[in-house]
Amino acid sequence: MVTRPLIDGFGRRISYVRLSVTDRCDFRCTYCMPMDMEFLPRRDVLTLEELDAVASAFIARGVTRLRLTGGEPLVRKGFIELVNSLSRHIGNGLEELTLTTNGSQLARFAEPLAKAGVRRINVSLDSLDRERFRRITRRGDLVPVLEGIAAAREAGIAIKINMVALKGLNEDEILPMIAWCGELGHDLTFIETMPLGLIEEDRTDRYLPLTEVRARIAAHYSLSPTAERTGGPARYERVTETGQKLGFITPLTHNFCESCNRVRVTATGTLFMCLGQEDRLELRDLLREGGPEALDAALDTAMRLKPRGHDFVIDRTAPAAAVGRHMSMTGG
Ligand code: SAM
Ligand code: SF4
Repeated sequence: MVTRPLIDGFGRRISYVRLSVTDRCDFRCTYCMPMDMEFLPRRDVLTLEELDAVASAFIARGVTRLRLTGGEPLVRKGFIELVNSLSRHIGNGLEELTLTTNGSQLARFAEPLAKAGVRRINVSLDSLDRERFRRITRRGDLVPVLEGIAAAREAGIAIKINMVALKGLNEDEILPMIAWCGELGHDLTFIETMPLGLIEEDRTDRYLPLTEVRARIAAHYSLSPTAERTGGPARYERVTETGQKLGFITPLTHNFCESCNRVRVTATGTLFMCLGQEDRLELRDLLREGGPEALDAALDTAMRLKPRGHDFVIDRTAPAAAVGRHMSMTGG
């Protein structure tokens, strides 16, 4: 029983935290960050102990789902130690400890993750074609990612594939990706590009509304909506023919804010109340100076600051980025 749940000014209960453990990444996905992305000095980033303290403060206030993300979480040194430590909360307030990864290091880490109690992970996979995968990620190799996915599956971890729909880049892979995921039993979620941080190209050129993606899928499969909601931007449908679950993350064509149940913490301890707004609270110095009590009090302040929703727009008249920070900073 949680005595002091986190409830914001609009009556929304915060039960889900996405915690970025690093802003660094071994890929440079074209829609996410520029090739010459500058990463933060290591001293600014929370230590493993501080990451644990932040996560634990939220769990003590009723957060039941924790997603570790980045940058690429699996490139953070000591990541498995952090997961092992956080796993003490599973079944003691925490219902789910999970992560989002690009899969490049997953083959090595699948087994230890499963042992620590991770039951489900999200893996980003925008193409099943090796050359195209390299073109999108600029540094990634598809082969180890597929090996990582297979290793996770073997370790008993359920996998959800995240695919960003990119006009003129991977739109012809939407149906093949559904078929591939269907065969292997993976859930699949499509994501619209979001205007977060500057990149080399104009995101408008690659923006493919998921309404269009859905229409193309519906021409081949029968889709039936499900009532499932996770308090985030995803809507889920089932493919009648295969029973497979498809998610659509549509921050631009659909507003999801009224049921928002989440906040995000960057690797430097900045608590962002909304992915698409600047409202924030710096937790790192509070924690360093005031310890767990200051952190706990800050969570109450944060609830008063959470805005009603985002104002994303992608069109030629809108600024190239709704907010200056990249998704790799706030962790997708
Ligand atoms: N590196 C890990 C990965 O790629 O899964 C975790 C962090 S990444 C920022 C989390 C998710 O955000 C990925 O699925 C990625 O495709 C997505 N993403 C990154 N930048 C995005 C953007 N501008 N718009 C929409 N999705 C984005
Ligand atoms: Fe790295 Fe993930 Fe961004 Fe790709 S989407 S550059 S893998 S953080």
